[in-house]
Amino acid sequence: FTGPDVYQRSFNPQEYLREFYRLSNSQGQLNTFLMQNLRALLKMFSLEGLRGNTLIDVGCGPTIYQLLSACEHFQEIIALDYTDQNRRELEKWLKKEAGAFDWRPVVEYVCELEGDREKWAEKEEKLRKKVRQVLNCDVTKANPTEPVSLPPADCIVSTLCLEAACKDFATFRSALRSIGALVKPGGHLVMVTVLRETYYAFNNQVFSCLRLEKDVVEEAMEGAGFDVRFSEVQPCPPGDVCADCEAVLSLVARK
Ligand code: SAH
Repeated sequence: FTGPDVYQRSFNPQEYLREFYRLSNSQGQLNTFLMQNLRALLKMFSLEGLRGNTLIDVGCGPTIYQLLSACEHFQEIIALDYTDQNRRELEKWLKKEAGAFDWRPVVEYVCELEGDREKWAEKEEKLRKKVRQVLNCDVTKANPTEPVSLPPADCIVSTLCLEAACKDFATFRSALRSIGALVKPGGHLVMVTVLRETYYAFNNQVFSCLRLEKDVVEEAMEGAGFDVRFSEVQPCPPGDVCADCEAVLSLVARK
Protein backbone atom coordinates (compact mmCIF):
# COMPACT_ATOMS: atom_id res chain seq x y z
CA PHE A 1 0.00 0.00 0.00
CA THR A 2 1.32 3.40 -1.00
CA GLY A 3 0.42 5.55 1.98
CA PRO A 4 0.05 9.32 2.27
CA ASP A 5 3.71 9.79 3.23
CA VAL A 6 4.71 8.24 -0.12
CA TYR A 7 2.38 10.60 -1.97
CA GLN A 8 3.81 13.56 -0.12
CA ARG A 9 7.39 12.46 -0.73
CA SER A 10 7.30 11.18 -4.29
CA PHE A 11 4.13 11.98 -6.26
CA ASN A 12 5.32 14.23 -9.04
CA PRO A 13 2.35 16.28 -10.30
CA GLN A 14 3.98 17.38 -13.55
CA GLU A 15 4.90 13.84 -14.53
CA TYR A 16 1.43 12.64 -13.54
CA LEU A 17 -0.18 15.26 -15.78
CA ARG A 18 2.15 14.45 -18.66
CA GLU A 19 1.41 10.75 -18.37
CA PHE A 20 -2.37 10.80 -17.93
CA TYR A 21 -3.78 14.18 -18.91
CA ARG A 22 -2.57 15.05 -22.36
CA LEU A 23 -5.43 14.72 -24.84
CA SER A 24 -3.09 13.06 -27.30
CA ASN A 25 0.43 11.73 -26.97
CA SER A 26 3.50 12.55 -29.04
CA GLN A 27 2.46 9.90 -31.59
CA GLY A 28 -0.89 11.63 -31.94
CA GLN A 29 -2.83 8.83 -30.23
CA LEU A 30 -5.90 10.10 -28.42
CA ASN A 31 -6.26 9.63 -24.68
CA THR A 32 -9.46 7.61 -24.82
CA PHE A 33 -9.45 6.98 -21.07
CA LEU A 34 -9.59 10.70 -20.37
CA MET A 35 -12.14 11.39 -23.12
CA GLN A 36 -14.43 8.68 -21.79
CA ASN A 37 -14.24 10.13 -18.28
CA LEU A 38 -14.96 13.64 -19.55
CA ARG A 39 -18.06 12.37 -21.33
CA ALA A 40 -19.20 10.56 -18.19
CA LEU A 41 -18.68 13.70 -16.08
CA LEU A 42 -20.72 15.80 -18.53
CA LYS A 43 -23.51 13.23 -18.44
CA MET A 44 -23.53 13.09 -14.62
CA PHE A 45 -23.44 16.86 -14.13
CA SER A 46 -26.33 17.19 -16.59
CA LEU A 47 -28.61 15.12 -14.35
CA GLU A 48 -31.51 16.91 -12.73
CA GLY A 49 -30.69 18.36 -9.33
CA LEU A 50 -26.94 18.51 -9.76
CA ARG A 51 -26.68 22.19 -9.05
CA GLY A 52 -26.36 24.51 -6.13
CA ASN A 53 -24.05 26.94 -4.47
CA THR A 54 -21.04 24.92 -3.35
CA LEU A 55 -19.10 21.99 -4.74
CA ILE A 56 -16.21 20.26 -2.96
CA ASP A 57 -13.65 18.30 -4.97
CA VAL A 58 -12.10 15.60 -2.78
CA GLY A 59 -8.62 14.42 -3.75
CA CYS A 60 -8.37 16.88 -6.63
CA GLY A 61 -4.71 16.15 -7.27
CA PRO A 62 -3.15 18.57 -9.75
CA THR A 63 -6.10 18.23 -12.17
CA ILE A 64 -9.09 20.33 -13.26
CA TYR A 65 -10.78 18.08 -15.85
CA GLN A 66 -13.25 16.83 -13.22
CA LEU A 67 -14.51 20.40 -12.69
CA LEU A 68 -15.03 21.46 -16.30
CA SER A 69 -18.67 20.41 -16.67
CA ALA A 70 -19.34 20.78 -12.94
CA CYS A 71 -18.39 24.47 -12.86
CA GLU A 72 -21.41 25.35 -15.02
CA HIS A 73 -23.77 24.35 -12.19
CA PHE A 74 -22.14 25.59 -8.97
CA GLN A 75 -21.12 29.04 -7.80
CA GLU A 76 -18.21 28.18 -5.52
CA ILE A 77 -15.74 25.34 -5.60
CA ILE A 78 -13.40 24.14 -2.87
CA ALA A 79 -10.65 21.75 -3.92
CA LEU A 80 -9.03 19.39 -1.41
CA ASP A 81 -5.96 17.19 -1.58
CA TYR A 82 -3.48 15.61 0.78
CA THR A 83 -0.34 16.39 -1.15
CA ASP A 84 1.24 19.86 -0.96
CA GLN A 85 2.81 19.71 -4.41
CA ASN A 86 -0.52 18.73 -6.02
CA ARG A 87 -2.34 21.67 -4.46
CA ARG A 88 0.53 23.92 -5.52
CA GLU A 89 0.38 22.63 -9.10
CA LEU A 90 -3.34 23.31 -9.22
CA GLU A 91 -2.78 26.83 -7.93
CA LYS A 92 -0.23 27.42 -10.65
CA TRP A 93 -2.96 26.87 -13.23
CA LEU A 94 -5.53 28.89 -11.26
CA LYS A 95 -3.14 31.84 -11.07
CA LYS A 96 -1.90 31.43 -14.66
CA GLU A 97 1.68 31.08 -13.45
CA ALA A 98 4.52 30.24 -15.78
CA GLY A 99 5.00 26.50 -16.16
CA ALA A 100 1.38 25.64 -15.38
CA PHE A 101 -0.03 22.64 -17.23
CA ASP A 102 -1.75 23.41 -20.52
CA TRP A 103 -5.34 22.21 -20.13
CA ARG A 104 -6.55 23.97 -23.26
CA PRO A 105 -6.96 20.86 -25.47
CA VAL A 106 -8.96 19.17 -22.71
CA VAL A 107 -11.09 22.26 -22.09
CA GLU A 108 -11.72 22.58 -25.84
CA TYR A 109 -12.85 18.98 -25.99
CA VAL A 110 -15.33 19.48 -23.12
CA CYS A 111 -16.61 22.71 -24.71
CA GLU A 112 -17.11 20.81 -27.95
CA LEU A 113 -19.11 18.14 -26.09
CA GLU A 114 -21.15 20.92 -24.50
CA GLY A 115 -21.86 22.45 -27.89
CA ASP A 116 -19.29 25.16 -28.58
CA ARG A 117 -15.57 24.48 -28.80
CA GLU A 118 -14.85 28.20 -29.03
CA LYS A 119 -15.95 28.78 -25.45
CA TRP A 120 -12.78 27.22 -23.97
CA ALA A 121 -11.23 30.50 -22.76
CA GLU A 122 -14.50 31.59 -21.20
CA LYS A 123 -14.79 28.27 -19.36
CA GLU A 124 -11.22 28.49 -18.11
CA GLU A 125 -11.94 31.93 -16.67
CA LYS A 126 -15.20 30.79 -15.14
CA LEU A 127 -13.49 27.89 -13.41
CA ARG A 128 -10.59 30.03 -12.18
CA LYS A 129 -13.07 32.45 -10.60
CA LYS A 130 -15.14 29.74 -8.98
CA VAL A 131 -12.36 27.84 -7.24
CA ARG A 132 -12.26 29.78 -3.97
CA GLN A 133 -10.03 27.60 -1.82
CA VAL A 134 -7.50 24.82 -2.24
CA LEU A 135 -7.14 23.06 1.11
CA ASN A 136 -5.36 20.17 2.71
CA CYS A 137 -7.36 17.05 3.44
CA ASP A 138 -7.00 13.48 4.55
CA VAL A 139 -9.93 11.26 3.61
CA THR A 140 -8.99 8.75 6.31
CA LYS A 141 -9.76 11.32 9.04
CA ALA A 142 -13.25 11.64 10.53
CA ASN A 143 -13.13 15.32 9.54
CA PRO A 144 -11.06 15.21 6.33
CA THR A 145 -10.29 18.95 6.46
CA GLU A 146 -9.25 19.04 10.13
CA PRO A 147 -8.59 21.49 11.74
CA VAL A 148 -10.84 23.40 9.31
CA SER A 149 -14.59 22.69 9.45
CA LEU A 150 -16.31 23.33 6.15
CA PRO A 151 -20.03 24.07 5.95
CA PRO A 152 -21.77 21.15 4.22
CA ALA A 153 -21.76 21.52 0.43
CA ASP A 154 -24.45 20.90 -2.18
CA CYS A 155 -22.29 18.42 -4.00
CA ILE A 156 -19.05 16.50 -3.78
CA VAL A 157 -17.01 15.22 -6.67
CA SER A 158 -14.17 12.75 -6.27
CA THR A 159 -12.22 11.19 -9.10
CA LEU A 160 -9.65 8.40 -8.79
CA CYS A 161 -8.90 9.28 -5.18
CA LEU A 162 -10.41 6.84 -2.68
CA GLU A 163 -9.06 3.74 -4.42
CA ALA A 164 -5.60 5.29 -4.14
CA ALA A 165 -6.00 6.61 -0.60
CA CYS A 166 -7.57 3.60 1.12
CA LYS A 167 -5.60 0.54 2.08
CA ASP A 168 -8.57 -1.80 2.56
CA PHE A 169 -12.37 -1.97 2.31
CA ALA A 170 -12.90 -0.92 5.90
CA THR A 171 -10.92 2.27 5.27
CA PHE A 172 -12.79 2.80 1.99
CA ARG A 173 -16.16 2.54 3.73
CA SER A 174 -15.17 4.88 6.53
CA ALA A 175 -13.62 7.37 4.07
CA LEU A 176 -16.92 7.45 2.17
CA ARG A 177 -18.75 8.18 5.41
CA SER A 178 -16.29 10.97 6.24
CA ILE A 179 -16.49 12.65 2.86
CA GLY A 180 -20.24 12.01 2.85
CA ALA A 181 -20.47 14.20 5.94
CA LEU A 182 -19.21 17.13 3.83
CA VAL A 183 -22.50 17.11 1.84
CA LYS A 184 -25.91 18.43 2.88
CA PRO A 185 -28.84 16.03 3.14
CA GLY A 186 -30.37 16.02 -0.35
CA GLY A 187 -26.99 16.85 -1.86
CA HIS A 188 -25.04 14.69 -4.28
CA LEU A 189 -21.84 12.75 -4.52
CA VAL A 190 -20.33 12.28 -7.97
CA MET A 191 -17.61 9.70 -8.24
CA VAL A 192 -15.35 8.31 -10.93
CA THR A 193 -13.42 5.26 -9.81
CA VAL A 194 -11.45 2.51 -11.51
CA LEU A 195 -12.52 -1.10 -11.05
CA ARG A 196 -10.24 -4.08 -10.43
CA GLU A 197 -7.12 -1.95 -10.59
CA THR A 198 -4.26 -2.88 -8.28
CA TYR A 199 -1.66 -0.32 -9.38
CA TYR A 200 -0.92 2.64 -11.61
CA ALA A 201 2.52 3.83 -12.54
CA PHE A 202 4.28 6.85 -13.99
CA ASN A 203 7.72 8.37 -13.76
CA ASN A 204 9.18 4.95 -12.85
CA GLN A 205 7.04 4.77 -9.74
CA VAL A 206 4.26 2.44 -8.82
CA PHE A 207 1.27 3.46 -6.70
CA SER A 208 -1.07 0.91 -5.19
CA CYS A 209 -4.78 0.86 -5.78
CA LEU A 210 -7.54 -0.84 -3.79
CA ARG A 211 -9.09 -3.46 -6.08
CA LEU A 212 -12.76 -2.46 -6.24
CA GLU A 213 -15.86 -4.09 -7.67
CA LYS A 214 -18.98 -2.16 -8.64
CA ASP A 215 -21.10 -3.85 -5.95
CA VAL A 216 -18.61 -3.04 -3.21
CA VAL A 217 -18.62 0.64 -4.16
CA GLU A 218 -22.42 0.83 -4.36
CA GLU A 219 -22.84 -0.95 -1.03
CA ALA A 220 -20.33 1.37 0.61
CA MET A 221 -22.28 4.36 -0.80
CA GLU A 222 -25.48 3.05 0.69
CA GLY A 223 -23.70 2.33 3.97
CA ALA A 224 -22.62 5.97 4.02
CA GLY A 225 -26.25 7.10 3.72
CA PHE A 226 -26.49 7.66 -0.03
CA ASP A 227 -29.00 6.42 -2.62
CA VAL A 228 -27.39 5.54 -5.91
CA ARG A 229 -29.13 7.45 -8.73
CA PHE A 230 -26.81 6.76 -11.64
CA SER A 231 -24.21 4.08 -12.14
CA GLU A 232 -22.37 3.26 -15.35
CA VAL A 233 -19.47 0.91 -16.00
CA GLN A 234 -17.31 1.35 -19.05
CA PRO A 235 -14.40 -0.89 -19.98
CA CYS A 236 -10.95 0.67 -19.84
CA PRO A 237 -9.85 1.40 -23.37
CA PRO A 238 -7.07 -1.03 -24.35
CA GLY A 239 -3.48 0.03 -24.81
CA ASP A 240 -2.80 1.56 -21.42
CA VAL A 241 0.30 -0.09 -19.98
CA CYS A 242 0.59 2.28 -17.03
CA ALA A 243 -2.18 0.72 -14.97
CA ASP A 244 -4.05 -2.58 -14.74
CA CYS A 245 -7.57 -1.17 -14.45
CA GLU A 246 -10.32 -3.14 -16.18
CA ALA A 247 -13.17 -0.66 -16.10
CA VAL A 248 -14.29 2.72 -14.88
CA LEU A 249 -17.33 3.22 -12.69
CA SER A 250 -19.17 6.56 -12.84
CA LEU A 251 -21.61 7.04 -10.05
CA VAL A 252 -24.02 9.66 -8.75
CA ALA A 253 -25.65 9.23 -5.36
CA ARG A 254 -27.97 11.40 -3.29
CA LYS A 255 -27.71 11.79 0.48
N1 SAH B 1 -8.47 13.57 -8.76
C1 SAH B 1 -7.23 13.51 -9.54
C2 SAH B 1 -6.08 12.90 -8.78
C3 SAH B 1 -6.16 11.42 -8.50
S1 SAH B 1 -4.58 10.76 -7.95
C4 SAH B 1 -7.52 12.78 -10.84
O1 SAH B 1 -8.67 12.48 -11.13
O2 SAH B 1 -6.57 12.54 -11.58
C5 SAH B 1 -4.92 10.36 -6.28
C6 SAH B 1 -4.92 11.58 -5.39
O3 SAH B 1 -5.28 11.17 -4.07
C7 SAH B 1 -3.57 12.29 -5.26
O4 SAH B 1 -3.71 13.63 -5.60
C8 SAH B 1 -3.20 12.13 -3.80
O5 SAH B 1 -2.49 13.24 -3.28
C9 SAH B 1 -4.55 11.96 -3.16
N2 SAH B 1 -4.52 11.26 -1.87
C10 SAH B 1 -3.80 10.18 -1.52
N3 SAH B 1 -4.04 9.85 -0.24
C11 SAH B 1 -4.95 10.75 0.23
C12 SAH B 1 -5.61 10.94 1.49
N4 SAH B 1 -5.38 10.12 2.52
N5 SAH B 1 -6.48 11.96 1.60
C13 SAH B 1 -6.73 12.79 0.56
N6 SAH B 1 -6.14 12.66 -0.65
C14 SAH B 1 -5.27 11.65 -0.81
